[in-house]
Amino acid sequence: MAGGEKREVKCSFCGRSKSEVNILIAGVTGHICDNCITQAQSIVNEELSQKAHSKLESNLVLQKPAEIKAYLDDFVIGQVDAKRTLSVAVYNHYKRLLQKKEDSNTDDDVEIEKSNIVFVGETGTGKTLLARTIARMLNVPFCIADATILTEAGYVGEDVESILSRLLQAADYDVASAERGIVFIDEIDKIARKSDNASITRDVSGEGVQQALLKLLEGSEVNVPPQGGRKHPEQKLIQINTKNILFICGGAFDGIKKHIERRVKTSTIGYGSSAENANFEEDNLLQYVSPVDLKSFGLIPELIGRFPVLTYLNPLDRETLRRILTEPKNALVKQYVKLFEMDDLNLSFEKEALDFIVDKAMEYKLGARGLRSICEAIMTDLMYEAPGNSELKSFKITSKYAEIKFSKSKISQLKVA
Ligand code: ADP
Repeated sequence: MAGGEKREVKCSFCGRSKSEVNILIAGVTGHICDNCITQAQSIVNEELSQKAHSKLESNLVLQKPAEIKAYLDDFVIGQVDAKRTLSVAVYNHYKRLLQKKEDSNTDDDVEIEKSNIVFVGETGTGKTLLARTIARMLNVPFCIADATILTEAGYVGEDVESILSRLLQAADYDVASAERGIVFIDEIDKIARKSDNASITRDVSGEGVQQALLKLLEGSEVNVPPQGGRKHPEQKLIQINTKNILFICGGAFDGIKKHIERRVKTSTIGYGSSAENANFEEDNLLQYVSPVDLKSFGLIPELIGRFPVLTYLNPLDRETLRRILTEPKNALVKQYVKLFEMDDLNLSFEKEALDFIVDKAMEYKLGARGLRSICEAIMTDLMYEAPGNSELKSFKITSKYAEIKFSKSKISQLKVA
């Protein structure tokens, strides 16, 4: 240094001297202080998050409702009304996200509302499958939460925020991507108010949870524990904005038919009824479900209001079960054939064997989920023995074979419901 005089070390960014800061870190040609590091870090974070947002936006290809439905058709059999309604809701939801960006410079006051959806339908009819399939198609994070484990804050159980922890986990902790994910809340009917009489004790699992859920559905900034639960009180909360998260709820709503029936019948005999109205199909009343019925069932109006789209799923009949066995892209039969193909064995099913499987699923009232357990009961011996038998090059599952294997299984000992 010139003249041997010792120059005071300073931050090369803000010019503060060593005595004015806590820490000064030396680089190759300069120094940086702790204040400037903190500031630089926040600039980096903001830039990265903006980049991530624009990347997500450019990745989002908006498919037309008919294209969305065609995709769903590959995985979900039947349920035409639910698929059409879901396709339109998802189309509008993502149109809203894209429009938001385009409109940000204009003073257009028209704000398209979110299209959160409620599926009403018996268990095992494809509610979760529809939600999961749509998330896969859109390539957005997806999580399933069970409404029955949720409680109001402060009670034993999980806070509603834990739902978002799951979504965040599904998004690999990428907040920007979680903020446009899809959440499926199962068994929403289980948090219905039990009766219209307000109880004197607090309703921990019913109305309180519905109230707590409103916060998520509203589109607000929610502080989320990244690991979920309350087990790690020391964990740092992550802020998630729920404005663009699509919520889909499902429930069997056991007993809702009597509310629908009462309403439909009253309106058909009342003033203005038409002959056409009087011909409603009694055996599938769910198709007439309306928000009023959800209210009679015990959901609070504020919650119903946040789910503008309501649709229903049909119970699965024999023909639908038969198609589920063979038609979807990942149909059970296709999966077994593939599994055996990996062992160089050509597997096939006799038509009558498939009919047998469906008959048993109907007989034991096991629904689509039961198809899997019945198939497993029939296939396990073969899956155990075939890999060790190199002589075996092909195998046909006949109805006789299916019957023998099934009769030895545990399921066959179940009482027919
Ligand atoms: P839930 O209505 O109780 O949410 P799921 O969607 O979980 O029912 O369905 C259970 C399983 O049954 C699914 O994983 C799927 O294999 C099968 N399944 C049910 N309904 C259908 C359907 N309509 N098309 C194809 N598979 C179905």
